[in-house]
Amino acid sequence: SLGERLEGVFKRFRGQGKLTEENVGEGLREVRLALLEADVNFKVVKDFVDRVREKSLGQEVMKSLTPGQQVVKIVHEELVGLLGGSTTELDLRGKTPAGIMMVGLQGSGKTTSAGKIALWLRREKKMKPYLVPADVYRPAAIDQLTKLAGQIGVPVYPSTPDMNPVDICADALSRAREEGCNVILYDTAGRLHIDEPLMEELSRIKDKCAPAEILFVADAMTGQDAVNVAKSFDERLDISGVVLTKMDGDARGGAALSIKSVTGKAVKFVGLGEALSEMEVFHPDRIASRILGMGDVMTLIEKAQTTIDEDEAKALQDKMREASFNFEDFRVQMRRLKKLGSLEGLLKLIPGMGKLSQQLGGLNMPEKELGRVEAMIDSMTRDERRRPELLNKSRKARIAKGSGATVAEVEQLCANFTQMRAMMQNMMGGGKKGKKGLPAM
Ligand code: GDP
Ligand code: MG
Repeated sequence: SLGERLEGVFKRFRGQGKLTEENVGEGLREVRLALLEADVNFKVVKDFVDRVREKSLGQEVMKSLTPGQQVVKIVHEELVGLLGGSTTELDLRGKTPAGIMMVGLQGSGKTTSAGKIALWLRREKKMKPYLVPADVYRPAAIDQLTKLAGQIGVPVYPSTPDMNPVDICADALSRAREEGCNVILYDTAGRLHIDEPLMEELSRIKDKCAPAEILFVADAMTGQDAVNVAKSFDERLDISGVVLTKMDGDARGGAALSIKSVTGKAVKFVGLGEALSEMEVFHPDRIASRILGMGDVMTLIEKAQTTIDEDEAKALQDKMREASFNFEDFRVQMRRLKKLGSLEGLLKLIPGMGKLSQQLGGLNMPEKELGRVEAMIDSMTRDERRRPELLNKSRKARIAKGSGATVAEVEQLCANFTQMRAMMQNMMGGGKKGKKGLPAM
């Protein structure tokens, strides 16, 4: 993943204070690959990378970040900006009912998205939608939308296959008005490829009904192809926004960036499944993280920014030295640890703990196990957490019962904890020579 690759880059540049030609270049090489892997158009990638390079050079590296991470942070910010910065809402001002015309290739998700948006408008905007099946070419298309309309209880125009799509839309508009609906969604036909008769039909519907929004529906799985198609639709119809469907699949969402860069039109919704509720308003920051590798890069950056403040670190060191580090402290650190991913990572943030972290390599716990440990600690009383030496046989049995663990697991946790505390104390130079100095549990 990009995260792993970048970690390699980060390691090499740890401790450098400024972004230089060299370390920026390294980071950007990885970013370029990630963008290409996410199916971002190569020209878009090139322009983008050039921009980030310009922006990065000479920047001071934030204390908590490595140069590589800083580059990724800049990349992320730029990506969010390129994707539109913040969420772009539908603009339904103007005449009532406001029209929303769905356009795009066959199978891209127009019909499904029309139903999803109708449901969303009713639920979130308290609007009264009207649905119009205007795809008379595919046999089941009218049925499909009529069924969806029934599911969400929205009125639908009674189109038949012998009708002309432009007439359907024009007549539906007056029907919708009569029925007191304030938003009307036209579900138009698609083709496997763009062709002139389709474009002609769509522009006639546009002229006749003057929709407030023309949403180009793009299948995220088609990646780069979607960009050229979007461009053609935009040139012909001047689309007002994009719906990116099938983002519940493997698609990394590079299409969102490419389409926005090429057409200048914002993605407004993201489809996340076949069901009508599976749609979200588009959030540029979420997609930016996804494009950069399913969020792992941002997690890395968040990790880097999670630093323990000095007072806390000092208090922790004292506790370690005196072996008064207890389960209460352990739990606090463990919660932090969950965010950081590893005990090693945590210990590196505590001054003087580098060596210990190496020795404790074996103590790294997988996420699931961490959860169990946390459950056991949660089952202790506050007194027990503060004074682990209280933990006798019957208390351990109670904790096991309370946390769904076995007594053996609780024993193991206590043994590990004792050992860890001893190691900490040794490392911190505390305790008395030749004596571990720890109360047994
Ligand atoms: P149209 O030809 O553009 O009207 O496309 P449809 O709305 O009929 O959708 C084509 C197929 O894609 C159908 O099987 C839909 O259920 C499916 N589909 C649409 N949107 C999504 C989505 O966001 N996620 C998933 N997984 N499937 C979708
Ligand atoms: Mg359809």
